[in-house]
Amino acid sequence: MSKRIVRIGNVAIGGGNRIAIQSMTNTHTADKEATLAQILALEEAGCDIVRFTVNTFDAVKSVAFLRERTHIPLVADIHFDYRLAIEAAEAGISKIRINPGNIGSAERIRAVAKVCNAKNIPIRIGINGGSLEKELLAKYGSPTPEALCESALKAAKEFENADFDNLVLSVKSSTVPNMIKANRLLAERCDYPLHLGVTETGTKRGGSIKSAVGIGALLCDGIGDTVRVSLTADPVEEIYAAKEILRACGLMGGVNLVACPTCGRTEIDLIRYAEELQARIDTLNVPAGKKLTVALMGCVVNGPGEAREADVGVAGGKGEAVLFRKGEIVCKIKEEEIVDTLWQEINAHL
Ligand code: SF4
Repeated sequence: MSKRIVRIGNVAIGGGNRIAIQSMTNTHTADKEATLAQILALEEAGCDIVRFTVNTFDAVKSVAFLRERTHIPLVADIHFDYRLAIEAAEAGISKIRINPGNIGSAERIRAVAKVCNAKNIPIRIGINGGSLEKELLAKYGSPTPEALCESALKAAKEFENADFDNLVLSVKSSTVPNMIKANRLLAERCDYPLHLGVTETGTKRGGSIKSAVGIGALLCDGIGDTVRVSLTADPVEEIYAAKEILRACGLMGGVNLVACPTCGRTEIDLIRYAEELQARIDTLNVPAGKKLTVALMGCVVNGPGEAREADVGVAGGKGEAVLFRKGEIVCKIKEEEIVDTLWQEINAHL
C-alpha cells in the first residue's frame, strides 16, 4: 500500500487506510434516474467509490443531480474530450479518471490539472492495455508490463510538470500476468496509490477468478489501495467478488464461511445449505473490524476439527449435526435446522 494519502471525497486511500472497493455503473449517465438507482444499489452492497462515464455534455448534467442524492465518492470517467473533465470538476465530482492515451496534448492536461488543483480533486491516470499510446506500442511491440508502467509514469510526469501530484495510477490488462508484473514495476518506481484491476475479464465466474488471481497476488504483496473487479455482469456482483478477494487476503472483516467440498462420506445436503447460508451472509453489512469464521462441515472426519477452529460451526451426521461454539460442543440439531441455527449464531456474534 502506498504511504501517500489521497482523499477522494470522504474516502481516504493509501497511508494505512483500508483498501477501497470500486465499481462502475453501466447505465447511460445521462439517464439520471437509472444511474442513481444503480449507484444506490452499489452503495447498499458495500461499494466505497463509484465511477461512471462522462462521455457527453448531457452526462455532465447528471453529476450535480447524482452528487445530491448519493453518499459515496463519484468518479467521472473521461475519454477523448478534456473539456468534459473540467465540466465534471466544476459540477462537484470527487475524482476524475483520464486515459492519457486519448486525452490529448500537454496543454489539455494542464487545463484539467489547474481546475482539479483548485478544487482539490484527485485524478486517476488509468492506463489500459487496449488503448496504449501509439509511440509505446511501436517501442515495445505490444502492451507489455514495461510499456504499461512507462505510460503511467510518463503521464504522471506530465501532471507533475503542471504542478499536480494528487494522483492515483492504474495499469490494467486483460492478461493477468501482465497486469501483475506492470503493477509490481509501478510500485517499485513510484509511491502514488495504485488502483488495481484486471480488465475485460468476462462473465461472473471466470472474471471473478481472473480478478482474484491478479488483484489477490498484488494485495498479498502489499501492493494496491483501491480495487475493481470488472465483470460482464450486474455491477453489484463486482462488489461481492471484491469483498471475497479482500477477505481471502485477510484485508477485510465479515463472515468467512468455511465449508467442506463434500465427498462420499457426506450425509447431509451440504452444498444446498452452504449456498443458502452464503446467500444470507452476502446480505450482511458487517461493521468494520468485525470478523467471524463459520464452519459448515459434512462429517466427523475433518468436521469437528474445523468446526472447533471456527467461531461457530456444525459437523454433519446422519440426518443431524453437532453445533460447536468457540471450540465447545453446544448441542445436536436436526439437519433441517442447520442453516437457521448458523444464521442465528452469526447474528448473535456480530
Ligand atoms: S469434512 Fe467429511 S464430508 Fe466433508 S469432505 Fe471432508 S471427509 Fe468428506
